[in-house]
Amino acid sequence: MRLKNIPGSREVIAENEYVIHDETAHKGNWSGIFKNNGPIRLEIGAGKGRFLMDLAARDTDINFLGIEKYSSVLLRALQKMEEQPLDNLRFIRMDAEYICDSFAPGEIDRIYLNFSDPWPKDRHAKRRLPSRQFLARYAQILKPGGLVEFKTDNRDLFDFALEEIKESSFELLLSTFDLHADAELMKDNIMTEYEERFSSMGNPICKYVIRLRA
Ligand code: SAM
Repeated sequence: MRLKNIPGSREVIAENEYVIHDETAHKGNWSGIFKNNGPIRLEIGAGKGRFLMDLAARDTDINFLGIEKYSSVLLRALQKMEEQPLDNLRFIRMDAEYICDSFAPGEIDRIYLNFSDPWPKDRHAKRRLPSRQFLARYAQILKPGGLVEFKTDNRDLFDFALEEIKESSFELLLSTFDLHADAELMKDNIMTEYEERFSSMGNPICKYVIRLRA
């Protein structure tokens, strides 16, 4: 993701109705934000929000939160929300490292990781969103049996992610090195911005689904 610092993006986000501003204030009470008891799902590293917008428009009985670290990227998602407001989708600008401060144990039903930054240097491995350190955080906030779905075209990152499952409290349910060649899996697939770009370049897309052991 090319990060341009867009002047004023922080100010726009601070006032935006589709952004949750005090992300630690709703711990244990996210249902109150959505005013229903439907499941709550997160995309971590939501980028410009296309995946979540399409998913939320399709699955209207599920609540979605997009977590994104950078205001300048989140701004694009908010512009799309102005055009097509969705009651079951909100965004949070935060670093996912602190996710356990914002969600109570078992509060989250599913987590999506799409085209997460690879952090190729070994010493940065713990910053990778499918690392054992992040899986331990996800395990704290997911309900028993909750899922993490991960997609990437980066084979090194995917191989790393598969290894990390062994160091976690998750079990592997499904894994493919070429999602777009699998007609069955593609039936439910929603493309992300990065997926569109990399698959059109001919890169195979890897995907796994892991489940928190009960
Ligand atoms: N998911 C989108 C897609 O597939 O098109 C965007 C992918 S982009 C490569 C990764 C995004 O994750 C960037 O917008 C980045 O700012 C965000 N990100 C990376 N680390 C993060 C973290 N620790 N917390 C929140 N967002 C993060």
